[in-house]
Amino acid sequence: MNGSSFNVAIIGAGPAGIFSARELINNGVSVVLFNRDIKPGGLAEYGIYPDKIKMKEGLRKQFASILELPELAYYGNVSIGSNGDFKIEDIRNMGFDAILVTTGAQGTKWLNLKGEKLTGVFHAKDIVYYFNKLPPFSTRDLAIGRNVVIIGVGNVMMDVARYLIHDRHVNTVTAFARRGPAEVKFTRKEFEYIGSNFDLDAYKSELDRVSSNMVEIGQDPLQSLSFIMDALQNNAETKSKTKFRLKFLSSPRCILGDENDKVVGIEMEENLLVLESGKTIAKGLGNRKVVECDIVIFAIGDSVDPGFGLPIQNNEFVKNSNPRFPVDDISYECFDPIKNAPMEDIFLAGWARNASNGLVGIARKDGINASQAILRFLSTKEGHARNCCLEVDQAIRTTVPNFVTKEDVINLENEEKRIASAMGLEYFKFLTNAEMLYAIKQKKIIQS
Ligand SMILES: Cc1cc2nc3c(=O)[nH]c(=O)nc-3n(C[C@H](O)[C@H](O)[C@H](O)COP(=O)(O)OP(=O)(O)OC[C@H]3O[C@@H](n4cnc5c(N)ncnc54)[C@H](O)[C@@H]3O)c2cc1C
Repeated sequence: MNGSSFNVAIIGAGPAGIFSARELINNGVSVVLFNRDIKPGGLAEYGIYPDKIKMKEGLRKQFASILELPELAYYGNVSIGSNGDFKIEDIRNMGFDAILVTTGAQGTKWLNLKGEKLTGVFHAKDIVYYFNKLPPFSTRDLAIGRNVVIIGVGNVMMDVARYLIHDRHVNTVTAFARRGPAEVKFTRKEFEYIGSNFDLDAYKSELDRVSSNMVEIGQDPLQSLSFIMDALQNNAETKSKTKFRLKFLSSPRCILGDENDKVVGIEMEENLLVLESGKTIAKGLGNRKVVECDIVIFAIGDSVDPGFGLPIQNNEFVKNSNPRFPVDDISYECFDPIKNAPMEDIFLAGWARNASNGLVGIARKDGINASQAILRFLSTKEGHARNCCLEVDQAIRTTVPNFVTKEDVINLENEEKRIASAMGLEYFKFLTNAEMLYAIKQKKIIQS
């Protein structure tokens, strides 16, 4: 690594962290990239639906070419945070000129309803990480029943529904929206994967039920219908008989369990759409009805990790609302509300800055913008901190014996490809960290 440049620590090797590393390196900065997972990629590896193989492979190649840069040191299987291998203060004390936090949205958002702890209640990430094989979720016993309710109508809901329909062949999947058909957040492309299982008659009668309210606030129910009808032109094939339904103007109020604390239903309150300051709001009407089901999944987005060690407000790390280095009018800077001052060397990007917001392209742009903010910050510094890379390396070797380097990642991915090809699979992933570390160790023995 370059001994005379600025040193920046990036925490989190998802798309935001990796693309920001490239931007910093292209501008003469040396980067140390810490990552909780053994493999880089974040949700590009463990969120994006497994059979989007081309997209995932394309991203892996881009990530690999960035990781190869000599100005970048990668430490995988190293967790930062209050309960991590190092606290954020430890990283600060290592002597970096700046720290960029790109840890994504690792916290879980709940609605604090009665019954959320019952057996059969999940968060979308439990399901997504399971089918994308992220340890330790990959080896959990994911007991899925026959009739599933999902709260939320975005693309993550669609990915979860797709898995339940095509891999689990459940009887019904019913997704509930707080607002109406015009406010669904999923894209046509994601709908196409489950279109063959869509209960169009149920949708039409649901649209009938809510159309007068839509018209009252200036929405056109026919536009919503044609969005669905267009998407139905291009359905993916299915062998599953699952019925997939969409329900609107309904908010969950309470999850009901049996004597064994297993989910048997969910109580939903009916809503009315109203316009407030130009925004479409759902207002509860007070009347409730019970929907029978044995599984409830919340696909309502995530929050940042409350245990990371940075100040949090409203599920987000606190940003400096009066940024010193704004980019596109956005603040990438962390703020300490207790001291009422910016944390001058700590920056945020990607889903760590704006939880559960946007696709990989957005996270990449956010990482690049945050790097621009950091470069402007560095240009205000007189000289730079000492080259801390050797000390960092020593601290990691002492504290985290099972850390993983970029060479280890290449070896691991090659081994997974070799196994996939030997087994005639499209892809293969080890299910546990122990298996991954064992494969890496074996490779080292062979190479030595
Ligand atoms: C179910 C699902 C499906 C999606 N499908 C698509 C799609 O099809 N196409 C698309 O473009 N986008 C998709 N996205 C969105 C995309 O994955 C995100 O935009 C992107 O991954 C966000 O990048 P990020 O770097 O901000 O965070 P993440 O990808 O979450 O990366 C965070 C990284 O930080 C690391 N980390 C976390 N905590 C710590 C810690 N304490 N210490 C050290 N490291 C830590 C993690 O190991 C991880 O590597 C999907 C998202 C989800 C949830």
